[in-house]
Amino acid sequence: MKISQRIAHSRPLATTAMHGRVESMRHAGQQVIDFSIAISHFPAPASVLDAVGTAVDDVRTMPYTSVVGAHDVRARLCGKLARENGVSARPDEIIVTNGAKQALYEALYAMSDPGDSVLVFKPHWPAYVATCKLLGLRPVLVDLPDEVTPAFLAACEPARIVIINNPHNPTGKVYSRAELDALRDWVQSTGAQVIVDESYEHLSFGPAHTSLAALCDWRALGVVTIFSASQSYAMMGWRIGFALAPMPLVAAMQTLQGPITAAASHLAQVATVAAFDAGVQRHMIDDYRERRDLVVRQFRDLPWIVMHSPDSGPYLWGDVRALTEDTVGFSEALIDEESVAIMPGDALGVPGFIRIGYISDDIATLMEGVRRVIAFGNRRAAQR
Ligand code: PMP
Repeated sequence: MKISQRIAHSRPLATTAMHGRVESMRHAGQQVIDFSIAISHFPAPASVLDAVGTAVDDVRTMPYTSVVGAHDVRARLCGKLARENGVSARPDEIIVTNGAKQALYEALYAMSDPGDSVLVFKPHWPAYVATCKLLGLRPVLVDLPDEVTPAFLAACEPARIVIINNPHNPTGKVYSRAELDALRDWVQSTGAQVIVDESYEHLSFGPAHTSLAALCDWRALGVVTIFSASQSYAMMGWRIGFALAPMPLVAAMQTLQGPITAAASHLAQVATVAAFDAGVQRHMIDDYRERRDLVVRQFRDLPWIVMHSPDSGPYLWGDVRALTEDTVGFSEALIDEESVAIMPGDALGVPGFIRIGYISDDIATLMEGVRRVIAFGNRRAAQR
């Protein structure tokens, strides 16, 4: 049986693969605590559930919408962009997608030709590099510094496209205004196009999140901004996202999306409007902050791990280089010995680090998983 070269050289996403492995283990009757991805223990906002319920009860007929999404849905998303992001946009500059992943794939497809370089800061969300590979692009991986300065950017290899993740998975970094100004100036001078993934926009524990598009002429620069309901509104499985892009790019993305999925599901579009109107989910952020502080405290003063307290997001990013650089081996042994799944930093481009998603399950399960990770790490440290 022939499998195309295009796909034969690609691998399933490490994150979804690990999650799939956990599901299979659970199906086989094993109890596994899953920190490998971050699936919120919160339901979608009540306003979303109400809107979908009403649509099912009252509307019933759900025709195809236009591929980019229903006009009224995109008009409401323009309202969200003006209100929350300080960006003025028209409905024809928006495309509704099945999550951020589809928006990312379509944007990269529409902006590039095979062989083009794409600058990705690491650690990175695995989908950035996986998508580049699927499209025959050349990811250029550069360590993300604590502070992005003009001098740092001047030393970066120029690329056709730059991907910025703000707030950042997995470190929780929220780009400051000065950093975004520096990025804008650098992009202006190099001519690179930018994709900004703002999927975690509402998960900041303090620092204000700013959209790059609010600080520049995004139409002229060719900036694409991607939003998702997965994390900001705890709606991972709903598969809801959208992209803001200059009109010619939206048209190109539509050409790609049409034959694949056509529009996002009509019901998902109803949910999209309600989700992006819902604003910051304060109760969720408060809960995540409490969990973050609880878990970071457990890891304090251990000689084999440095665990920073993130400014945003559902992940902890731990430096275990004092113990090992082989975090794939670390993660494999951890799941074998302690039935706890984590993400090795290797999957995010940085071996020697581990990522822990801390927002799933209840507190007791979270603490039990953390206890096991610590017991495992202590054992390894004692064996050295
Ligand atoms: N971007 C990043 C950086 C993410 O980590 C995630 C969630 N894992 C998403 C986007 C959300 O993607 P989607 O909307 O496809 O669920």
